[in-house]
Order: sequence, then C-alpha cells, then structure tokens
Amino acid sequence: MSESSLIIQSLREFLRREVESVSAKIDKEDFYPREIVKKLGELGFLIPLYSNLSHYDMVKTLEEIAKVSGSLALIADAQGELAGEMIRLYGNDLQRKSFLEPMSKGEIIASLALSEPSGGSDIGSMKTYAEKKGSWIVSGRKMWITQGIYADIFITVARTGNSRKDLSVFIIPRGKCIETSKIEVMGNRGTGTAEVIFHECEVPEDYVIGEVNNGWEMINSVLEVGRLAISGIAIGLAERALEEAFQWANSREAFGNKLYNFQGIRWYFADSIAKINSLKALAKEVSRKFDENSNDKGVYVSMLKLLSAEIAQEIVDTSLQILGGLGYAKGSSVERIYRDVRVMRIGEGSDEIQRHIISKYSEKYGIPILD
Ligand SMILES: Cc1cc2nc3c(=O)[nH]c(=O)nc-3n(C[C@H](O)[C@H](O)[C@H](O)COP(=O)(O)OP(=O)(O)OC[C@H]3O[C@@H](n4cnc5c(N)ncnc54)[C@H](O)[C@@H]3O)c2cc1C
Repeated sequence: MSESSLIIQSLREFLRREVESVSAKIDKEDFYPREIVKKLGELGFLIPLYSNLSHYDMVKTLEEIAKVSGSLALIADAQGELAGEMIRLYGNDLQRKSFLEPMSKGEIIASLALSEPSGGSDIGSMKTYAEKKGSWIVSGRKMWITQGIYADIFITVARTGNSRKDLSVFIIPRGKCIETSKIEVMGNRGTGTAEVIFHECEVPEDYVIGEVNNGWEMINSVLEVGRLAISGIAIGLAERALEEAFQWANSREAFGNKLYNFQGIRWYFADSIAKINSLKALAKEVSRKFDENSNDKGVYVSMLKLLSAEIAQEIVDTSLQILGGLGYAKGSSVERIYRDVRVMRIGEGSDEIQRHIISKYSEKYGIPILD
C-alpha cells in the first residue's frame, strides 16, 4: 500500500469510528461538530495541502469525509481550501504562524467572507469597502458564509479602489464590530451558514493578506482550489448514495426477484459507476495540473467542478429512486445526501459560471483538450 493510501485508510477508520454515528445528528439538530473538527485537525486532515499532502490527496480526503458527512466535508473545505488556502498561498510568515498553523489544528475556526447580498457570482460588484485611516476600516455585509456563526476569524474581501478589480483581503478577528446571524439552508446543516456584517472594523496593516488591490487574482486562484475540493465532495456524496442503493437493490425483492436482477435497475448502476469513475479519473488528472501549477489548471478545474456537481446530483437522484419510499424518508442518509449535494452546483462558482469560464477560455485560446 502506498503512503498516500495508508493516510486515506487511517482517515477512513477515524470517520467510521468517530463521525458515522454523529452525521445524522449534525443534520437533524443543525449541530456544529466542533470536537470532530479539532480531531480532524490534530490528525492533519483539516488543511491537507498545509500538511504537505498532494492535491489529489486533498480531493480524496474530502471525498472520504463527504461519504460520511457532507456537512463536515463542507466545513473542512471552508476552513482548508477557502480560508486556509488564502493564507497558505498569499499570507506572510507571521500570518501563517499566528493563523494558518492553529487553523490547521482546528484551534482557530475561519471563514472566507466573499459573497454579498448583491451577488456571489459577480465579485466585481462587491460593496464591502475598506479605507485606510491609519489602520484599515472595513464595513459591509456578507452572505452565505460557511462557519460564519462559529468563526474566530473572517478572511474578508473588500473593495479598496474604484475599479471593479480593486479588491483586497483582510484577516478580521471576531469582535464587537461583527454581527452574525444564522441563515437556514436546505442541506449541509450544522455548517453555521451566516450573514456577517462588519461595522467599521479596525484592521491593522499586519492583517492585510498579500498586496493591496491584488485581491481579484488571489480570490480567483483560491476559488480554483475550492472547485477542486468541491469536486471531491460531490464525488464522495455520489459514491455514498450509490453504495446505499447497491446494498438495497441486492437485498430488496419485488415480483419474486432481487431488485438488482432487473435490467432497468442494473443499467442505472452501470451508468452511475461509469460516470463516477470518469469523474475520478478527471479529478486525478486535474489535481496533477495543480501539483505542477499548469497554466491551464483553471479551465480544467471548471470542467471538473461543472461535471462533478451535475453528475453527482443525477447519481444521488437515481440512488434515491432505487431506494423508493425509503430514500424519501427523513432519517435515510440518501435523503440527507439529496439535500447536501444540491449546493455543489451553486457554491464556489455556479454551473453557469463554470460554463462561462470554459467558453471564454476557448474563445481566447482555442478548445482545451487533454493530452
Ligand atoms: C450553503 C452555502 C454555503 C456558502 N458558503 C460560502 C462561503 O463560505 N463564503 C462565501 O463567500 N460564499 C459562500 N456561499 C455563496 C456562494 O458562493 C454563492 O451563493 C454563489 O457564488 C452564487 O451567488 P449568488 O447566490 O449571489 O447567486 P447570483 O450570483 O445572484 O446568481 C444567481 C443565478 O444566476 C446565475 N448567473 C449569474 N451570473 C450569470 C451569468 N453571467 N450568466 C449566466 N448565469 C448567471 C448563477 O449561476 C445563478 O444560477 C455559499 C452558498 C451556500 C448556498
């Protein structure tokens, strides 16, 4: 067994031992699994890239977590591949030591505060702004922020100039200037989705990440990593739903025969298995592009994210169909996955935004085709 397989195997064991029995509670009680997040950190799985794992190991980590709890996977993504990645890629030594290191251990909870009530897709229309008055003063309103209710720090994107792309990124610790309120969402419950308002928060220069007015570029590269992560989550959700349906089809009888023996049902599985494995192969290829920092990794991760989200939703829907009424019942894990998987087509760049990226790239450089 390779070192990477051993690492994933140890994660699987942890998830089976400590998370499987809590995943229904996370959803049902909207329960934020603080202790589990901490343990994931102690084991080095909360920010895999900071733990020196490869991009594909990061995808596999999220895939495994999503098989057990979509909510926990989204929490890990928000902490690791969104907030964490901003500091890992662009933070200075002090920011890495003071924030990223404790974030990786689950000692500090962090959110990426990017989307706003006026729109998540059109980042250039952002209204949150920061003015330099000795320190920076940040004011504005953010929406849909994962972990927003629980975050100790907010990696906040704000306007610092007049052009659409004049954006900068600030680390803002929770304090009196920050108001958070819960947003009820259909799936991925327990992730602390919130509206976050910054009322003239004073931020020292040391808490600016990267260069002032370079936020546009920084956000885009962080979101690319986020899209790779989301693809892993989508694949994991689809795999789990399919496994549940497979077990059911092999035990449930109708018309004197196992469900799995009906050709209509077998073909559902054949199609889904082929699609999941195609996604995994693409995820591996795209991850390699990230490891090698290829120039075209952005367009390929858009393809992967678009397909993973759409196909995962389709597979989960098919799995629910195979489970019949049971799949529609509260308490069934496929019912939960059906709600969890839906956001994969919206967050970190919707389907439409991925299509936009792919078509714009093709217009500029010609159709991208893998070697
Ligand atoms: C559960 C959850 C967790 C989230 N977590 C975070 C987080 O941690 N941090 C954060 O910053 N954000 C987060 N988000 C926000 C998420 O990134 C946005 O919802 C997403 O980017 C879409 O933005 P929007 O909802 O404002 O929709 P809009 O941008 O208003 O878009 C609405 C619809 O129009 C489509 N559309 C927009 N522009 C175009 C176009 N040019 N062409 C065609 N169609 C278009 C979109 O694809 C979408 O279907 C989260 C959202 C959810 C639901």
